[in-house]
Amino acid sequence: MLPKAWDNGVMKNRKPLMAANWKMNLSLDEAGDLLNRVKKAEIDFNRVDVLVAPPFTSLQLAKKLLTGTSILIAAQNMHWEAKGAFTGEISPLMLKEVGCTHVILGHSERRTLFFETSEVVNGKVSAAIEAGLIPIVCIGETLEEREEERTLDIIRSQLNESLKTSCQQRSLPECVILAYEPVWSIGTGRTATSEQAQKVHLFVRRWLRENFDHDSGDTIRILYGGSVRPDNIRELMLQSGIDGALIGGASLRADSFLSIISFYES
Ligand code: PEP
Repeated sequence: MLPKAWDNGVMKNRKPLMAANWKMNLSLDEAGDLLNRVKKAEIDFNRVDVLVAPPFTSLQLAKKLLTGTSILIAAQNMHWEAKGAFTGEISPLMLKEVGCTHVILGHSERRTLFFETSEVVNGKVSAAIEAGLIPIVCIGETLEEREEERTLDIIRSQLNESLKTSCQQRSLPECVILAYEPVWSIGTGRTATSEQAQKVHLFVRRWLRENFDHDSGDTIRILYGGSVRPDNIRELMLQSGIDGALIGGASLRADSFLSIISFYES
């Protein structure tokens, strides 16, 4: 078993978070089955936070099954307005009503498939904070950008634009979560090496310290996402800059998600 300071001697004060992004997967029956299995598992919530982000249609079920547990519920997207004529959209207040405490914003699939810009993400981040939802803000470079050695420039500009309002106010709530997800690694089976991920995570933390006060620079959690599996989570979590994971494919089965959650036991 890994010791309490399980990060190669560098004490992490940030509690790890394992977040499941189901994307557009699982029927209501499948969702209920998976949630019940995770709920029944023995998870040491003193050592890890656990969150699930089902599709909108399963949020109510998640609330019903998870109320009274320590498992957190997130939505995968939202609109920035509280209500109104926005056909097909869901507001922050509606998400709160169905038990969400968190919302994933700026996922690369939203950015590329639905043309969501960092400007839009910034509006959503502000609306989430205003409504009392915790945003999980995703950033990450494409393969082309990495090969052109532009990774850190892209990450900096996504952070500057996606958190523009917070930067202008020089204030970011400590509960906000960032997720570094290299686009070339999402759903491809190709994980960033722990060194590649660590380099970006340390860069993001430096950016946080430059833009916000020392406390939020130190306390904000930065997750890694991109083909995280039971066999690579431990190595990733050994990096001092990595505070948890955003998990897609491997979160759709109870055995693999639970194995990732209990990374600290291996
Ligand atoms: C994701 O969608 O956020 C993700 C990281 O997916 P996967 O784990 O399947 O690569």
